[in-house]
Amino acid sequence: MPRKSRTPRANRVPRAGRTLTALVLLLITVLAAGCGKPGSPPVKGPRPDALPHYRVDHGFRLPDSPTWSKAKRRGYLVVGVKEDQPYMGEKDPATGVYSGFDIEIAKMMSASLGFDPKTIRFRTIASANRETALQNGQIDYYVGTYTINENRKKLVGFAGPYYMAGQSLLVRTDENDIHGPQDLDGKRVCSAAGSTPYQRIQHDYPRVQLVGYDTYSVCVDNLLTFQVDAVTTDDTILQGYAAKVPDELKVVGKPFSKEPYGIGVPRSDNALRIALDDALAVNEKNGNWQKAYDATLGLSGRPATPPPPIDRYPAS
Ligand code: GLU
Repeated sequence: MPRKSRTPRANRVPRAGRTLTALVLLLITVLAAGCGKPGSPPVKGPRPDALPHYRVDHGFRLPDSPTWSKAKRRGYLVVGVKEDQPYMGEKDPATGVYSGFDIEIAKMMSASLGFDPKTIRFRTIASANRETALQNGQIDYYVGTYTINENRKKLVGFAGPYYMAGQSLLVRTDENDIHGPQDLDGKRVCSAAGSTPYQRIQHDYPRVQLVGYDTYSVCVDNLLTFQVDAVTTDDTILQGYAAKVPDELKVVGKPFSKEPYGIGVPRSDNALRIALDDALAVNEKNGNWQKAYDATLGLSGRPATPPPPIDRYPAS
């Protein structure tokens, strides 16, 4: 995967830029601590009482799944997630606690598989490393803004989809020239290496100066310090960053792709994939999905769109 601008930050950023970076990071930290202006959305995760309680199915058995059987012997699940995507998958640096819509999906799946969600060991895995993590057995499943597509299906399996996002653009509030991908020629645009939005810009908009990092939070830092002109990825993720610092950042234009989110599983573990499809269907029906959405992603101001139909594709 080609990546540009891999020079360490300290070597690239002039002194004034570093001071600004420090100020911006301080601002984000202050807002994250809940000291923002009145009415700011909570950024440390939802109030615990607003979250649904997922009933653990203690009698659940899935002996045909090697992943489930291994987890059963181990006594807990290891789930791959993101840690820097507000309202989706976010880790509180003080407590180490993960929260967000993807985290709730991971917990409801755990309960359905017979594991108490409190016992999950979350592992942060970047976009470019998801397939390898599943192939190596580093994680049992992955829930982190993970788009289902045919290329990835050659490497991993997907339960779901459980949500539909779309690629969009995040810019500074003082930016008036960027309204969609057609305005990006010659602009510096940042995205995560290995992501579908990165690949789409690379293939469809070759005149863009594309910059790749491991995570979107580094891209946002670069945007706030004037090193790039825009950040591109799913609207879900970008709206989360914009909601944190609405005076500094805005999402512009209409989504220009479809990004159906799936739960990544090891490719050959069809039993696990089907069990997760069943668990999603149950939780969509019993209201847990909606409650989880309202207590997480809904707080970013994004209205709930019903989950797309589950795609129970045949094993190959
Ligand atoms: N949904 C896109 C993807 O799976 C972008 C978000 C991400 O990198 O997680 O590549």
